[in-house]
Amino acid sequence: MPDPLERLRALQGADLPVHGGRTLAYVYDAGDPAVDRVAREAVAAYSASNALDPTAFPSLLRMENELVGFTCRLLDAPETAVGTVTSGGTESILLAVQGARDSRPEVARPRMVLPQTAHAAFHKAAHYFGVEPVLVPVGPDFRADPAAMAAAVDDDTVLVVASAPSYAHGVVDPVTEIAAAAAARGIRCHVDACIGGWVLPYAARIGRDVPPWTFAVDGVTSISLDTHKYAYAPKGTSILLHRDPALRRPQYFASAAWPGYTMLNATTQSTRSGGPVAGTWAVVEHIGDAGYLELAGQALAAVDAIVRCVEAEPALRLVADPDSTLVAVATDDSCDPFTVTDELLERGWYVQPQLSFGAGGPTIHLSVSAGTLPHVGELATALRDSVAAARAAGPVTVDPDVVAVIEALDPAALTDADFNGLLAASGLVAASAAGDLELPTRMAEVNAMLDVASPAMREALLVAFLDRLQRPVR
Ligand SMILES: *Cc1c(COP(=O)(O)O)cnc(C)c1O
Repeated sequence: MPDPLERLRALQGADLPVHGGRTLAYVYDAGDPAVDRVAREAVAAYSASNALDPTAFPSLLRMENELVGFTCRLLDAPETAVGTVTSGGTESILLAVQGARDSRPEVARPRMVLPQTAHAAFHKAAHYFGVEPVLVPVGPDFRADPAAMAAAVDDDTVLVVASAPSYAHGVVDPVTEIAAAAAARGIRCHVDACIGGWVLPYAARIGRDVPPWTFAVDGVTSISLDTHKYAYAPKGTSILLHRDPALRRPQYFASAAWPGYTMLNATTQSTRSGGPVAGTWAVVEHIGDAGYLELAGQALAAVDAIVRCVEAEPALRLVADPDSTLVAVATDDSCDPFTVTDELLERGWYVQPQLSFGAGGPTIHLSVSAGTLPHVGELATALRDSVAAARAAGPVTVDPDVVAVIEALDPAALTDADFNGLLAASGLVAASAAGDLELPTRMAEVNAMLDVASPAMREALLVAFLDRLQRPVR
């Protein structure tokens, strides 16, 4: 009998490490094995429990209410505030948009006003729920422009959005002005604190300069905050808070229009694993308020060290002064940023390439965890060496024929065969001798190719790529 767990561990060997503080996107590491043990045991104990019915699993209801209570204290929420545990930041945002739309049934063509730096999850919500996104350019500091946002609001606006902080640049929007403009017209204002929500309150307590963004700001009606990021909880939870129950009301869905149990849901899921809820609750209990204060201090100390090392490297430049634990770095013409990220990966560090957007060139994103602090010295060395290697390697060139095709064609007009050709030419997918698709190991050429593509072409190419990856193994 083959041991499936043995095979599982072998398969997992190909993945990015989730511990060790060297994966600076997608995962968040408290740097404490006890946290992981607590999470694992709680997830395992509840993986078969179903949060669909709180009367059948009252322990999960209790854990969710305690989690929301903890979050209320963090976010200066008034006594009236209520919340829901969702499966992640995207689901929290989907629900905030759906609730805003459904609170205004008289608006035939609902719109939401977003700073251009808002997370892509809002575009997904727009697509799912038929809410038109009105994108407002940000200022030169990459913060939302509150006057421009106020000017973009009209009678059909059902939601105004701010980020605390934005993912790509790591800066907090001027929430006070944005929320005031929304409130003046009676419109909901959602603060996307998915990534900063569990860090910024502690940063403020440490004495760092944090602009106001919580429920202490008049006009903020809802806030999303991902526990599976800086609460260091296992993947699969986020929290959506509303200032009062009436604001949450349209989020609920009930249906008695079938012969089974009356379906009653607070989120997009119906059956909902108890595992992530219990894992999150256990981690938050284990770390506790004092523990999070310490972890936030460690993550911010790591950010400070990274900032110093970026400032000491002439080829690198901070895109913005980080307001929390996200760092965006640009390179000068002497080195290609995508080669720098490849070189870092070869040295055991995963950082995330961000493609050119609007007038801005490509950048490198780092989500810095507490678990990175003991290793920042090694990161500084790796960064220096990676920049030197990228300078020595020279610029990355994209096959001019591929560029010509990518620039000339409308992605909507391409056939499946065209995409197969493009994917092969770009190096995104190569067929192995066995006929399987093989992922590229060095991404610089692929990223350089995507970087010259229009946003629509990037989307189409990457969808075609994912479609080719997701094929059954029989
Ligand atoms: C991570 C993130 C999201 C989306 O969250 P997921 O958990 O990946 O679905 C939304 N907004 C911001 C600012 C984020 O950092």
